[in-house]
Amino acid sequence: MATIDFKFRNQILGNDIGNTLAYCYQCATCSGACPVAQVTGGKYNPRRLILDSLLGLKEKIFGAENTFNIWGCTVCDTCDEVCPQKVELTEIFTILKNMSVERGEAPDYYTTQAATILENGKAIPMQPAIEKRRQQLGLPSILAPDLEEIKKILEATKLPEKLPKKD
Ligand code: SF4
Ligand code: SF4
Repeated sequence: MATIDFKFRNQILGNDIGNTLAYCYQCATCSGACPVAQVTGGKYNPRRLILDSLLGLKEKIFGAENTFNIWGCTVCDTCDEVCPQKVELTEIFTILKNMSVERGEAPDYYTTQAATILENGKAIPMQPAIEKRRQQLGLPSILAPDLEEIKKILEATKLPEKLPKKD
């Protein structure tokens, strides 16, 4: 049986936005509207994630086997829009995602993209093929990002320390 982790529960409830968690009355409107819940046949379930957070059931949320519970969310914000209790679901899920990163459990496809942004200042680095295609379409060249400024911002968030170390 899963145990209640009060520290974890209070970490969310103690957050200005996370405390909206307390207003959830488990109506499941969020899960009914969530496109990921629909295409996964309920494997991804925002209502359940909110409930587990509210109850402090940390071990049901984190751990390598539960990664999809958090990272399945595409941040489309549909659940926020339909929740009758104005629970800030996507913000709460962002808190959980940040905790998952801190635990070293974020999926590779996220950390790899974060590393690419840190290195290149953007998610898709400049490529001659893209530039050539833009020229053919009569589109202007893409301005290079200010890498130093972006690095400074990301370093302030301690992103480099949170990314898995390269071998
Ligand atoms: S829609 Fe809102 S109140 Fe209903 S289960 Fe989801 S979070 Fe809770
Ligand atoms: S933001 Fe996430 S949980 Fe909410 S509806 Fe979209 S995919 Fe589902």
